[in-house]
Amino acid sequence: MPLNIALVGNPNCGKTTLFNALTGDNRYVGNWPGVTVEKKVGEVKSIFYEAKSAYAGEKYCAEKKEKKIFVTDLPGIYSLYAYGAEEGVARDYIFSDDCGLIVNIVDGTNMERNLYLTLQLIETGKPLIIAVNMVDVLNKRGIKINFKLMSERLGAPVLPVSAGKGTGLEALILAAESEIYARVGAPVNFYGKELGDIISSAEKIFFKDKKDYARYRAVKYLDMGETDGKADEFCSHEKKIGELIKLREIDRDALVASEKYDFIVSLLKQARAAKGKRQTLSKKIDAVVTNRYLAVPIFLCVMFLVFSLSFGAPGRAMKSAFEYLYNQTVSDGLARLLIKIEVSQWLYGVLIDGIIRGVGSVLSFLPEVALLFVSLTILEDSGYMARAAFIADRPLKKIGLTGKSFIPMLMGFGCSVPALLATRTLQNERQRRLTMVVIPFMSCGARLPVYSVFTAVFFPKNAPFIIFSLYLLGMITAMLSAYIFKKIVLKDDKTEFIMELPEYRFPTVKNLFRHTFERIEDFALKAGTVIVLSCAAVWFLQNFGMDFRMTDNAGESILAAIGGFIAPIFKPLGFDDWRAVTALLTGITAKESVVSTLEILFGLSKNPASLASSFTVASAYSFLVFTLLYTPCIAALAALKREMQSNKWFALTLCYQLAAAWTAAFLFFKLLRQFG
Ligand code: GDP
Ligand code: MG
Repeated sequence: MPLNIALVGNPNCGKTTLFNALTGDNRYVGNWPGVTVEKKVGEVKSIFYEAKSAYAGEKYCAEKKEKKIFVTDLPGIYSLYAYGAEEGVARDYIFSDDCGLIVNIVDGTNMERNLYLTLQLIETGKPLIIAVNMVDVLNKRGIKINFKLMSERLGAPVLPVSAGKGTGLEALILAAESEIYARVGAPVNFYGKELGDIISSAEKIFFKDKKDYARYRAVKYLDMGETDGKADEFCSHEKKIGELIKLREIDRDALVASEKYDFIVSLLKQARAAKGKRQTLSKKIDAVVTNRYLAVPIFLCVMFLVFSLSFGAPGRAMKSAFEYLYNQTVSDGLARLLIKIEVSQWLYGVLIDGIIRGVGSVLSFLPEVALLFVSLTILEDSGYMARAAFIADRPLKKIGLTGKSFIPMLMGFGCSVPALLATRTLQNERQRRLTMVVIPFMSCGARLPVYSVFTAVFFPKNAPFIIFSLYLLGMITAMLSAYIFKKIVLKDDKTEFIMELPEYRFPTVKNLFRHTFERIEDFALKAGTVIVLSCAAVWFLQNFGMDFRMTDNAGESILAAIGGFIAPIFKPLGFDDWRAVTALLTGITAKESVVSTLEILFGLSKNPASLASSFTVASAYSFLVFTLLYTPCIAALAALKREMQSNKWFALTLCYQLAAAWTAAFLFFKLLRQFG
């Protein structure tokens, strides 16, 4: 009898490449799913038999001479439950008697996902060898895996191969030939006590009549509730399963899967922790950079450098140069042109005072943002960001975020818009949304002018302390919000962030330009369109009265009417002056507008103390708290809506932010009034 080996694995794990390498075939290898739709059979090349004879000696070879080995290339599958036509081909062959041995190919660069199928295959009890593919890539990245440990915990041989480079194939065929898989396969349990008990008791029922695949059937029953028409035998099981589902607050189909993933995560943690020698230079740098005591100070220094480059003197210089150029060319040029062709007063107003000025105030951040992006791209490409995320991972996990959320949150101190775009590095959709919910609470640069205007009037002595307290409050709110959302909205989300620290590299100039440009383009173009519209709208509302005639008295404008209308909402917070409320409203276009609106309405530059007519110390702080926490500016809102890709989530986030801002401002107002 020849030995028939089935090549089983996820799409794109390298099955066809391995098939070609083993059989010398030259079939088309495609880097997309669905290329292999039918199974193909080929005989293993004689060269592998020769390798075996060199190992096992002539005598052994003569005995087994007639035993030919065939391999079958199957369509890729993620799970044995799949019911599509292609997947059916794979599943039917795996369970057929033809198939004498499964070689499960696991993409070594994507093991978290690939191993799910592996665990299912182990549970079928069929002869199995696990081939971890793409070890050439792992070696290049300096990632070492303890295959022996994996074999022991999985109860099946685990061998490293590179189908692409043709390494490890002799050992694979030798393992198949010598049937070592038969000796390793001790029964394994991937589950905790409760689930494990239910499964083994269900297994006994399946074991009674059909001896085939009893454990696999028992697990499948737990997953799908299918009982092969013996429903009455499973009454007690159903009760226990129901209790578990209720206790853990998850769906039935996640019950088994989540414990499988837990097993995978713990397995990989162990197998990767036992790292060999990594390439020396990276290792030496890491010894310092991820050192228990030095990691945080180094990280703070690096971030301080980035921020002082982007938002300190170099960034400010570029910003004022940009503003000067913009005013000289675009603003003044257009203004002169409009006067020359004698456009009407309102058109001049909306174009120059509305759109050009508003868009300019946003574009003026472009140099700073570009500098920030260049710096962050360098940190990312060099491999440092992976370390930063690694350091922050543990504390962030406690509140439902991961290390990957860390960088976007940090960027939020600069500007929420790029920070929201940066969440694209998070693959997990729920965690990505959670990160987006908290980012706007990180106090962005645009809020700083508001703080300084108010602290100058109300807290002249403790200005730094007050501003620091607001930054801190923003961070605390972000943490609390993450925790609340984790507990209420995202409670069954169970993903682990497994860090593979890449080698340090020099970033290439090409990459640097490409990444930076992509990000700036987003910022300038997409945010720009929204801002043009909002600026025009605010200008109209500010300059037209309720009778739709132009007015010079801002107090009679539509904006003032709207401000006055919603002002009562803010009375419990200590301020209900329509001017303050209007400032908050225009602040939605850009948080800087809070200051510019206050400037127009109170005449701050001439008489800063005029603020004191509408605010007390307590209500001033409450105003600042509200400014810090309420919905971010329109550019950030646009980014939020686009990135969330869900109106429901967008609306939820908006409401949450408003509620959080109102509640916090209310509490602080009451508190401060109590104590002075
Ligand atoms: P299949 O969908 O499982 O049949 O996967 P393929 O054989 O089509 O391979 C998917 C992709 O992975 C192709 O681009 C292969 O070139 C690549 N690949 C397969 N094996 C290796 C390997 O050992 N190392 C590397 N670097 N790439 C590989
Ligand atoms: Mg294929």
